[in-house]
Amino acid sequence: MGYDVQHWIGGTETAGTGSTQPILNPATGQEVGTLHLGDAGTVDRAVEVATAAQREWATVSLAKRTQIMYRMRQLMIEHTEEIARAITREHGKTVADATGEIARGLETLEFATSITQELKGGFSENVSTGVDAHTMRQPLGVVAGITPFNFPAMVPFWMHPIALATGNAFILKPSERDPSASNIVARLYQEAGVPDGVFQVVHGGKETVDALCTHPGIAAVSFVGSTPIAQHVHATASAAGKRVQALGGANNHAVVMPDANIEFAAGQIASGAFGSAGERCMAVPVAVTVGDAHEPFLEAIAAEANKLVVGPGDDPTTDMPPVITAAARERVLRMADEAEQAGGRLVVDGRGLVVEGHENGNFVGPIVVTDLDRTHPTYTDEVFGPLLVVMHVNNFDEAVELVNSSPFGNGTAIFTDSGHYARRYQEEIQVGMVGVNVPIPTPVGYYSFGGWKDSLFGEHHAHGPEGVGFYTRQKAITTRWPAQNETVESSMSFPTHD
Ligand code: NAD
Repeated sequence: MGYDVQHWIGGTETAGTGSTQPILNPATGQEVGTLHLGDAGTVDRAVEVATAAQREWATVSLAKRTQIMYRMRQLMIEHTEEIARAITREHGKTVADATGEIARGLETLEFATSITQELKGGFSENVSTGVDAHTMRQPLGVVAGITPFNFPAMVPFWMHPIALATGNAFILKPSERDPSASNIVARLYQEAGVPDGVFQVVHGGKETVDALCTHPGIAAVSFVGSTPIAQHVHATASAAGKRVQALGGANNHAVVMPDANIEFAAGQIASGAFGSAGERCMAVPVAVTVGDAHEPFLEAIAAEANKLVVGPGDDPTTDMPPVITAAARERVLRMADEAEQAGGRLVVDGRGLVVEGHENGNFVGPIVVTDLDRTHPTYTDEVFGPLLVVMHVNNFDEAVELVNSSPFGNGTAIFTDSGHYARRYQEEIQVGMVGVNVPIPTPVGYYSFGGWKDSLFGEHHAHGPEGVGFYTRQKAITTRWPAQNETVESSMSFPTHD
């Protein structure tokens, strides 16, 4: 039914030998297309093609690779609307939000256009008498990226522009829920001049992921998704001898100090909690009010939540779209029910929301819960939906202690007028990305993105300079050019420099 999404191998679409599954529109619950799922055979074929293509690609000059990246940037800009609409149809988010994620993804592509700077090695003359030393960074070979449903364009863009610009071949395994954007990107890379086989897409679920994590022809795996799968990918691919970066889930807290501009904080936190229906890894599902901030914040956040228009992503008046699946909707509703049963107060209750004309869509209205115990799962677990928990503490130290007690450490924010507390927060918080009066502190493409603790497994953060480090390895070269008739004494002892 509808359209067909196949693998992109060797510069062309191929159905492969695996099974298929329907692609659903979250706003209607209806099937819109069919996805071909990969298997070990599909991965074998993609790796074989990539291995041959990468040998050639690594020899293409930096000048030519850079020109291709510039062309790709232009093509992405020209096709933004097409990609954004495909994302809205399969993910559900608003077209404006999808356009925003494409723009943020392009930051990494823009960074990759200056890869010439990042790949400069070091050179030292005369490290010993008549001996020079230099370093260079070389690609790893064939690398794979496995990505989540919530950013079908941006998250893959954290990976492939840098992998390609540094001379690797890249195999993308996007989420099976919203696969179309990746095939459009593959077509555009081809149009930009990337040789066939250098960028490929293999679709599928666990079988495809496990084949990528264990295939001997793949040198490195980048993963972004939930914490249990991040741990699985990190363990499986590491055991198979690969370099791995695996970014996991999150439960980001925003602290609201009593001196903060409460209206401003509530507006920003509402955008973090309810934008994209809370399905962002840098969403803000927890607000921590300090001292007297509690009651005014509850009033202000309720006002923000109650004015949101919930509807389909292709309606320009929509503020908050549906969640990804019926199961995700049920989970949010269950977590709200359990919070209420445990004595939680629902300050805003979007459980009963029905969007007219979209009765089968996965809609749930904004929910704000307070008075929950810090051990309750609706607070401790990642909800990944439009449910904000407001926790109350007495002072700054208690806020820091609460945030640091979470097993996750992806992002956090503090809302305050005090430079003193903002500075202490940056210093004391055990989280990888921190915002000061900024609710979603996602670093720009030329910095790197990554959390701490259960939000990242592996040494490297994503994109920016750490991305270059991840997709390349260093070679150190020591050189001596003695004159043809020069006599150099050999010694059996370990060489020292003189
Ligand atoms: P997910 O973990 O279910 O899926 C991620 C990828 O893993 C997909 O490609 C999927 O096909 C694959 N996968 C799923 N189950 C698998 C299994 N059993 N074995 C092997 N592979 C499997 O995540 P999702 O639901 O697509 O995305 C939401 C999650 O991603 C949230 O937890 C969110 O916090 C996280 N996320 C984190 C970041 C970050 O930067 N840390 C960014 C975006 C999303």
